[in-house]
Amino acid sequence: MNLPILTGHDVARRRIAQALTRGQLPQVTLISGPEGVGKQRLALWMAQMILCEAREAGPCGSCRPCRLVLGLAHADLHWIVPIPRPKAGDPDKQVEEAAESIAEAMEERRKTPLYSPSDGMSAHGMATARLVARRAALTPVEGRTKVFIIGEADRLVAQESSPEAANALLKLFEEPPADTWFVLTTTDPGKLLPTIRSRAVPLRLGRLSDAEVRAFLTATLDPAPAKAELDRLVAKAHGSIGVALSATGEGQRNRKAAVSWLEAVLEGTGPAAERALAQMPWSARGEFTDLLDAVAETIGDAARGAAGQPSIDPVPEALAGRDLAGLLEAQAKVAEAREAAQGNVNPQLLLAVLGGDLAEVL
Ligand SMILES: [Zn+2]
Repeated sequence: MNLPILTGHDVARRRIAQALTRGQLPQVTLISGPEGVGKQRLALWMAQMILCEAREAGPCGSCRPCRLVLGLAHADLHWIVPIPRPKAGDPDKQVEEAAESIAEAMEERRKTPLYSPSDGMSAHGMATARLVARRAALTPVEGRTKVFIIGEADRLVAQESSPEAANALLKLFEEPPADTWFVLTTTDPGKLLPTIRSRAVPLRLGRLSDAEVRAFLTATLDPAPAKAELDRLVAKAHGSIGVALSATGEGQRNRKAAVSWLEAVLEGTGPAAERALAQMPWSARGEFTDLLDAVAETIGDAARGAAGQPSIDPVPEALAGRDLAGLLEAQAKVAEAREAAQGNVNPQLLLAVLGGDLAEVL
């Protein structure tokens, strides 16, 4: 399946097109903006522009490079996404493993172009840095240029065990090979290593309009949602297609699990909470952070309600009428747990501790 349509960001597109026409497109760009507004999708559009053989104000969409990019099959487009830490001990084996993980992620995205954010445990480790450095040194396969997209670049782990690999990457960003472009994306430029940030030209994206979100959902969701459902999704999205998509399917499932867990926790940390814990629907470690996000969202809705603002989703009964201070404290606890979940912790244990903490502050 092809990539979903790129929605909005007309100003950014014009700027990219003009810069490219004048031969002034920076070789290292950092696209930042809220979650789910299409930063990596714009990066892909940019790659398509760079590789297209008949571009004007936009990529032609029909030449061979365009078709290959849209099918995520262009040999000179390297879309680098966060991956689980390689298991091998040998650095060369780790690079192979990283290449395989990224290839698997791409295969997944070819099948399901409307992908969810990568799980909270994945990162760009040293093996990925080495992989990028190696591929950047190769000559392009298809044409004369190659493009690297590094999604969620704030997950670039620079220190770890190998400063050489980090330095190799920094050197690449400082002096990219003449035929190579790097497009980094992040929701939070402040989390990027300053040494990387200072080497990239920033491009900031804003939220989409409601009309743009609506148009995207109408064109993309299959089956098309009924009007009431579409209204709900657009209202929830706040200009983020990603947020709207998370309110369908998988996201809903996590939300339900989060609510029943919160309810059990608030009844007391006894058997009910343990039962709820046992029923939490994660199979992979990574899905755990999605659940934590759903817990944070649920509490966030309750906090909005307590502050007298309209909540996006209905506030579960167990949380209704709680005081704002407690809810905010609870949110801080969830954020701490979310942070801890990036490390090597036991999710079950972390959730049990969090449950105790929430029962205390709520
Ligand atoms: Zn083209």
